[in-house]
Amino acid sequence: MKGKKKNKKHNKIFQSTYRPAVKNIDKILDILNQQYPETTTTSLSHKNAFQLLISTILSAQSTDKLVNKITPALFKKYRTPENFASADINILQEDIRSTGFFRNKSNSIINCSKDIINKFSGKVPDNIEDLTSLHGVGRKTANVVLANIFGRQAIIVDTHVKRISYRLGLTINSDAVKIEFDLMKIISKENWSRYSHQIIALGRTICFAKKPKCAVCRFLPYCRYGQENA
Ligand code: SF4
Repeated sequence: MKGKKKNKKHNKIFQSTYRPAVKNIDKILDILNQQYPETTTTSLSHKNAFQLLISTILSAQSTDKLVNKITPALFKKYRTPENFASADINILQEDIRSTGFFRNKSNSIINCSKDIINKFSGKVPDNIEDLTSLHGVGRKTANVVLANIFGRQAIIVDTHVKRISYRLGLTINSDAVKIEFDLMKIISKENWSRYSHQIIALGRTICFAKKPKCAVCRFLPYCRYGQENA
């Protein structure tokens, strides 16, 4: 974004967000790049779009580490959307139990697989409208697939992006979809996916939900929460 156009856009956003964070968004992106240069993709293991879709559904209210532990055996047992669509739900529940919320997740996985077969000839769609039309797939899951499989720029509002974007002051909203659209206005498009993955890394290493390490955080000068609480 250039000069006057950028200032005009940012002036509007300043009215409801934290000025130092919005004004210094390029510095924030630079520091993220310095701190997490390699973190540009998801840490969920996958070999194709379908596996990533299923892994992302499983990662809700869980951790990528826990999901990565069970998916090698899971994807050996269920190789295709057809395999999941015809799964015995009680057996699938046991297969994914350790990731939590296994009843809801198994229901979503079976119905999502049926949708892929019935609506999209067995192929994971490559756009947000079609992806979010799948059973159990919200914008976060769809954006993970779009960013990591189809090379699209997407803001992925998971628990870390939600918490840290709010703490920094880049949004005043708590609703994930509103946060996604707030961030899309402040961050230039070519940085959407990278920002998401790097903020997730920040959430796992420094900006913890409980006791964030503000004293050693390089974002402290630009962070609303840090300035108010550190
Ligand atoms: S200053 Fe504190 S709250 Fe702000 S990003 Fe850093 S660790 Fe998180």
